[in-house]
Amino acid sequence: MEKETAKETVSKNFIEQIIEKDLAEGKYDEICTRFPPEPNGYLHIGHAKSILLNYGLAQKYHGKFNMRFDDTNPTKEKVEFVESIKKDIQWLGADWEDRLYFASNYFEQMYEAAVKLIKKGKAFVCDLTAEEIREYRGTLTEPGKESPYRNRSVEENLELFEKMKNGEFKDGSKVLRAKIDMASPNINMRDPVIYRVAHMTHHNTGDKWCIYPMYDFAHPIEDAIEGVTHSICTLEFEDHRPLYDWVVQELEYVHPPKQIEFAKLYLTNVVTGKRYIKKLVEDGIVDGWDDPRLVSIAALRRRGFTPESIQKFVELCGVSKANSSVDYAMLEYCIREDLKMKAPRMMAVLDPVKLVIDNYPEGEIEYLEVPNNMENPELGTRQVPFGRELYIEREDFMEVPIKKYKRLYPENEVRLMNAYFVTCTGCEKDEEGNVTVIHCTYDPASKGGNSPDGRKVKGTIHWVCAETAVEAECRLYENIVDEEKGVYNKEDGSLNLNPNSLTVVKGCLVEPELGKAESYDRFQFVRNGFFCADCHDSKPGAPVFNRIVSLKSSFKLK
Ligand code: ATP
Ligand code: MG
Repeated sequence: MEKETAKETVSKNFIEQIIEKDLAEGKYDEICTRFPPEPNGYLHIGHAKSILLNYGLAQKYHGKFNMRFDDTNPTKEKVEFVESIKKDIQWLGADWEDRLYFASNYFEQMYEAAVKLIKKGKAFVCDLTAEEIREYRGTLTEPGKESPYRNRSVEENLELFEKMKNGEFKDGSKVLRAKIDMASPNINMRDPVIYRVAHMTHHNTGDKWCIYPMYDFAHPIEDAIEGVTHSICTLEFEDHRPLYDWVVQELEYVHPPKQIEFAKLYLTNVVTGKRYIKKLVEDGIVDGWDDPRLVSIAALRRRGFTPESIQKFVELCGVSKANSSVDYAMLEYCIREDLKMKAPRMMAVLDPVKLVIDNYPEGEIEYLEVPNNMENPELGTRQVPFGRELYIEREDFMEVPIKKYKRLYPENEVRLMNAYFVTCTGCEKDEEGNVTVIHCTYDPASKGGNSPDGRKVKGTIHWVCAETAVEAECRLYENIVDEEKGVYNKEDGSLNLNPNSLTVVKGCLVEPELGKAESYDRFQFVRNGFFCADCHDSKPGAPVFNRIVSLKSSFKLK
């Protein structure tokens, strides 16, 4: 018992440690976390980490989890993204219950907060242009210069800010700035802009507002209004924390939230940044935000990943303060582990060639009982048709075998998986020398794939019955970026694309059961990998499968 408690303490991440300390000190009765996406694109695997982290903490400490759209920037936001984000978060298994919020619903409170700062002499309206503000800001080594408008009176500031709100000024002609310290070593504290004039239509508030708050001002207010206790964000905001703290302090919130930063999740050889995914979509390089080669959550779902595999992956990644890249192979490991027991093991021939069993009765079809998953008897069994004419993988036959080849070649005996032993007797070829039909004989006494007399065969191959096989399309994927060259081009920052990222294999032949596959049904195809019926293109009778992952990997969990 004692030992277990000790182990649990060690495995706590730094955010859990902070939360436990806060709870122990009685700082909060209950914690509240949030996931605050900007609705300007689809969520990706990195967001999954943030979602599951925030949701997981709320669960673990019996607190609350808020879903909040950070929609304070009217230029880039779209309703389409709001819907996709909600769907993705639900699919991942994070439940916000009735705690769905939109930052744009707080515009009134944000405006009042700005007025409060003005009244306290902590904010001023500034007429410098964007360029001048940049010049006045100073550099990392030199302090900034104060704006000539910095000492406007409270009355004048209130009046001007109200006029800004009433639309009396042109975009960019005036901003509201916090009055902090132009000599601060932290550039974010050098009188940052907190409101700008922008005559733009907002997807939620329409034309009501023509001033919009800046992120660094808006975010702490959103957190405070909702009663968020631990506002978890990624490392790039570390230098913004003093401003976050300044805002909640100056606005005198009774229970100020606090910001905690963790390292972003990066995956090797994939494109995460929303910006880059968007470009691939807009340039038509991929077929939409859910193209299975992407790592958007929609793409992972379409490809066949399960929420459980992503949860496991995020858990294995851990939470840290140091930026690093996780091997894509770890994500593959997680889906393999998850599907190993869940997915039925089926026979599908991706590159078929005909095999005729010359001593098998003509016109006869028999049904063999086959376990759906050897490792998981709970998945039951199915009846697989077998007959005189079958299809096997072209690579499972060699007229002249190479060294150590254990599959079918003249005179050699192999096991047809779950069926019979067969011995190859020869093959037919076309004019170009391609094998068109392979011939063999079977041993009726070896039914079920077991040797009748202790005879051993070295190879086992999979097959489908020619008469009942269903034609399918299989899509095989490689990384969208070129592994050798790296994700981004060193010279111009563009993406190094892999021209072979998608291989469409038509004319695959699969067992009849697979012909009935419905969207998102997942299977293991013997030897070929885990596959998932494509949610857009797969139809009963004409299935289309996405390969989620191949079966083998050199990846080992440390
Ligand atoms: P991107 O950089 O991919 O465009 P973003 O940070 O602009 O993402 P937001 O919608 O602002 O996207 O992010 C919502 C939340 O997700 C933020 O709290 C952000 O810190 C977090 N987040 C974004 N990318 C990652 C990542 N790679 N790993 C972990 N958390 C992330
Ligand atoms: Mg962002």
